[in-house]
Amino acid sequence: MDLRDTPEEATFREELRSWVEQNLTNEVRRGRFEEAGRDWSRKLHEAGYAGLTWPKEYGGAGAPYSHQAIFLEEMARAEAPPHLGVIGLGMAGPTIIAHGTETHKKERLEKILSTEEIWCQGFSEPDAGSDLSAVRTTAIRDGDEFVVNGQKVWSSFAHIADWCILVTRSDPESQRHAGLTYLIVDMHSPGVEVRPLRQITGEAEFNEIFFTDVRVPVDNVLGEVGGGWGVAMTTLLHERGTLGFALTAGLESQIRKLIALAKERGATEVQRDAIAREWIGLQAVRYTNYRSLTTLMKTGIPGPEGSGAKLWWSEANQRVTKLALELLGPEAQLIGENGYWQHQQLRSRGNTIEAGTSEILRNIIAERVLGLPRSR
Ligand SMILES: Cc1cc2nc3c(=O)[nH]c(=O)nc-3n(C[C@H](O)[C@H](O)[C@H](O)COP(=O)(O)OP(=O)(O)OC[C@H]3O[C@@H](n4cnc5c(N)ncnc54)[C@H](O)[C@@H]3O)c2cc1C
Repeated sequence: MDLRDTPEEATFREELRSWVEQNLTNEVRRGRFEEAGRDWSRKLHEAGYAGLTWPKEYGGAGAPYSHQAIFLEEMARAEAPPHLGVIGLGMAGPTIIAHGTETHKKERLEKILSTEEIWCQGFSEPDAGSDLSAVRTTAIRDGDEFVVNGQKVWSSFAHIADWCILVTRSDPESQRHAGLTYLIVDMHSPGVEVRPLRQITGEAEFNEIFFTDVRVPVDNVLGEVGGGWGVAMTTLLHERGTLGFALTAGLESQIRKLIALAKERGATEVQRDAIAREWIGLQAVRYTNYRSLTTLMKTGIPGPEGSGAKLWWSEANQRVTKLALELLGPEAQLIGENGYWQHQQLRSRGNTIEAGTSEILRNIIAERVLGLPRSR
């Protein structure tokens, strides 16, 4: 594979860079998360940068995956805020494209791109996290509707979401992967209650969701009734598979900041060695991303290699932010002017849990990338 941009990709990158220079104003950077995020996301959509690989008939640009990779790299390098519809764009949308009906696609997809509708992911439950097949939230059929009861937890964006991708158990007698049904649920339906959870950073970006007799039309099933496991796997592959480039570019900008800090404050030989090792690791994961991109371009489906980039990024981000606090010395105990590194270190604790814990990702890499025997 030739790792350089083709002339056409180089033009796309150049146009994107100059668009970012003109549009990524200080107001966007410093604005309040939700309002600034909506404005920025709308701008991205109007310029044709949201849903780059989505089909044109549903508001996308119908561009190749290489453009999406370039877009993610450039956004992370410019330290641009993400599109507010992270879950809609990265997970709900691709799952609707793969398993939805024509009506789902027409009614939902463009509203994801424009942020008219924000999505959340209702997979995890108090007793079903790594093992999603232990889901107990029920969806019992009643005529043309399902009646949903149960609790989800750690749902990012649920407090501002209009729709939820929800994994439910539609056959109460079923065990594990069988009898699950994947629903799209209107978060404004009667019986949906969202309770924000405060994180170690002090922010509340994820939530508990309680469902009490929530009525969901049967038309809102994605895929087949009872076939929810396969649909959920599509979502998870997209969650990990397409993020690699953004994560790696984000890590690069984090390591560059660490280098600047080391130059400013001074670093011991051991610390310099650790910084150099992070830089080398970053280059290795960059090439793994190109391998994932090749799979995606050939098959249209992200491969299990995406788990490698997520695993590396999450653990590296914890090491890098810890190193920065070390360089700050005793001052690290004070939040100071902006508390950037302190916030980053606290937030990075969740990186090895969200989108699959490190242990789960190592299992996936062992079994599905390296072909080792199953652990159980
Ligand atoms: C910041 C953040 C945002 C999140 N956003 C969402 C969201 O939007 N929607 C959503 O549905 N969920 C979300 N989650 C939840 C996340 O997906 C789960 O926390 C994660 O899957 C782990 O599940 P759990 O917390 O139940 O831990 P458990 O599954 O109970 O795991 C506990 C420990 O046991 C280990 N373990 C479990 N099984 C195995 C095994 N087979 N082999 C080896 N070790 C194992 C795990 O690695 C972990 O260390 C979010 C989490 C975080 C931190």
